[in-house]
Amino acid sequence: MFPEVPSKVDFPALERRILRWWDETNAFGKLVEKNRGKKRWSFIDGPITANNPMGVHHAWGRTFKDLYHRYKAMQGHEMRYQNGFDGQGLWIEVEVEKELGFSSKRDIEDYGIARFVEKCKERVHKFADIQTQQSIRLGYWMDWDNSYHTMSDENNYTIWLFLKTCHDRGWVYKGRDVLPWCPRCSTAISEHEIVTEGYQELTHPSVTLRFPLLGRDGESLLVWTTTPWTLSSNVAAAVHPDVPYVKVRQDGNYYYLARAATSRLHEGYEVAQELYGAEMEGWTYEGPYDELPAQQSVQHRVVFWDEVSEAEGTGIVHIAPGCGQEDFELGKEHDLPAIAPLDEFGVFREGFAWLSGTNVADSAEPIFEDLRRKGLLYDVEDYTHRYPVCWRCQSELVFRLVDEWY
Ligand SMILES: [Zn+2]
Repeated sequence: MFPEVPSKVDFPALERRILRWWDETNAFGKLVEKNRGKKRWSFIDGPITANNPMGVHHAWGRTFKDLYHRYKAMQGHEMRYQNGFDGQGLWIEVEVEKELGFSSKRDIEDYGIARFVEKCKERVHKFADIQTQQSIRLGYWMDWDNSYHTMSDENNYTIWLFLKTCHDRGWVYKGRDVLPWCPRCSTAISEHEIVTEGYQELTHPSVTLRFPLLGRDGESLLVWTTTPWTLSSNVAAAVHPDVPYVKVRQDGNYYYLARAATSRLHEGYEVAQELYGAEMEGWTYEGPYDELPAQQSVQHRVVFWDEVSEAEGTGIVHIAPGCGQEDFELGKEHDLPAIAPLDEFGVFREGFAWLSGTNVADSAEPIFEDLRRKGLLYDVEDYTHRYPVCWRCQSELVFRLVDEWY
């Protein structure tokens, strides 16, 4: 009654046969024609980034979209069937930079921005074609000759008009803030970008050092940091007013640190005094980089901060408002100056003496050496922590004080 069915099926061959049959019978064209003028059902396809061939995860999403299209078409709707390609953003630029062997934004400027943009567009067109072929092979029914591109002039001018309108109405403003920054891409990275895929478990050398107190001979605050480059821009030391601290004596020096942090000390110390953070109010100290031009006129002092934890570091937090978001907020509260040490490439600016011109990535060792020479270094120790990296190029992020549009 039924014809024989082979037990072994060649699925790819079967698919190709059906694709061919659709093609020969103009099945898609007929469906479009059949539904023309009927009730519209418009699906705006979120554009796929045309930067590489499609992956399986794309096929998964596209299959669902196709399913809805077919379902609605079978119900007799006139469909939009418009696919989109996303040609915007650093994803593509980073790939083209790799292609051309570039390592920084300067290389792009030397190459010529217009030429570089053309290269990026070429890449988008190339992969838009590849993705189109892949989608057709997948059996995805779309009006493939009518795909939209986010990089079209039409779209770009619309975005400019939108921004202009916002500006005209006073909805955008330029503000100063400390933002996570990729020194390689020379761009700010949004919180969202960091939260989604921007952390790695990394080991950095952390340093414990002393800030000699003014008017208290032989006494120092003991502070700890995992970002030695920020010491150049230190302006304050934060303590928690309600946390118990101790003054310990060791090798003829007196150090202040949280009582809970004494395990950080080298062997052999005696507690000379117990006190609360509140008692350190108004204390001033000698900063580790007072000799730098950028540090002139800075009065280093102890400030209170409720976020100080006795469980981390020494319980006395070095504050550099130009180098960290929390520091910047605290700085506003206490009216502290914000010193911004790094340029957009993560290189120390003018005003930082021997550090000027040094890349932040190469600065830790020379800074330790300098602190050692000044007699301020207490300890250097590797520390493993979750640290933000650039999701595009994996470079370690820094925090920069910048003027940005909001
Ligand atoms: Zn980057």
